[in-house]
Amino acid sequence: MTAPRATVTCPDCDLEETFTKLRDARLAVDRHQRETGHDPTWRLGRLDPGVERAGDAATACGRTREDCGGALTPFTERRE
Ligand SMILES: [Zn+2]
Repeated sequence: MTAPRATVTCPDCDLEETFTKLRDARLAVDRHQRETGHDPTWRLGRLDPGVERAGDAATACGRTREDCGGALTPFTERRE
């Protein structure tokens, strides 16, 4: 599977990177913190809603509506 599994975003800049390995995502967060002093976060799942049906992934994606593909609530998106 090559679909991204983790997305790193930063509230302090426009950083948004997707990674297929959680370890890489963690490393990117760590690196960004060191390089910029920002406080990036990473979350699971950056997949099409149909693929992101695991409920746990949706709960990790509750920061902004845009990040969830424009859906009002991440919890209902998984069936649409
Ligand atoms: Zn940043």
